[in-house]
Amino acid sequence: MNYTDTLQAVDTMKALHLMGIEGGQSGSYVHYPCTKCNEGKAVIRAYGDKKNVWYCPECKRSGQIISLVMEVMEMTWEDAKNLLNEKAIQYPASKVAKELSLGYELEYDQYLELQGISEEVCVKLGIGRPKGKTMLSGCIAFTVYDEMDKKIAYYGIRIKDGKPIFHHSFNPELYLYNFNRIDTEQEVQFTTDMLDCVRLLSQGQQAVCNFGLPYLSTTHFALLNKCKYVSFSYEIKNLDEISVQAVRNLQNYMRILKK
Ligand SMILES: [Zn+2]
Repeated sequence: MNYTDTLQAVDTMKALHLMGIEGGQSGSYVHYPCTKCNEGKAVIRAYGDKKNVWYCPECKRSGQIISLVMEVMEMTWEDAKNLLNEKAIQYPASKVAKELSLGYELEYDQYLELQGISEEVCVKLGIGRPKGKTMLSGCIAFTVYDEMDKKIAYYGIRIKDGKPIFHHSFNPELYLYNFNRIDTEQEVQFTTDMLDCVRLLSQGQQAVCNFGLPYLSTTHFALLNKCKYVSFSYEIKNLDEISVQAVRNLQNYMRILKK
């Protein structure tokens, strides 16, 4: 994501929280203690054209959120920008209303073969490397459907570093990958890893994925609660946090699989 897109995509309050700064929002402004003069008078815009641009009337300094992260967390520009893109993105609040009209021509890639994912499954699920120059160039694209089987988005995983790439209109908190295809009466495996999910599907198992988020959202739980049996794998990176959430929120039968 480039500089301007990052400024627009970052949730100001999430970003301040990431830096350990406590801010108070009033309208489109967030007030917080200036990181230099420590007066509680610095302001940053939480939305609008000047979103994530800050100013301190006391020491007369100004800047934007990326440079603030660089200063506070002693990071390079690139690291600060990446951190914000990974941890402080503002997702849209609502589900996608219209069927996606965009259609990529997807090619089976050697990378998928190396991951133990068959071409047959890729064709069936709409997975592959998009041909031509697209937002998901260099990525494996996964076609995403909502519960009603409506195509709503493409979710990408960049081949060189595994970084997730997707359009801002898609909120991964509101969907579970492959939920439209499962039989809720049968055991469903939950995973946070898209490739792991597809690998399980290749093996004829039932699986869903939360698009790699390190937590489960309210909607994720609402969907998982429709399944009679849910299993979690020990290979999940954030299993501790997710399993604690699951024990608290899942009303159905669940088990944790040790692989
Ligand atoms: Zn100041």
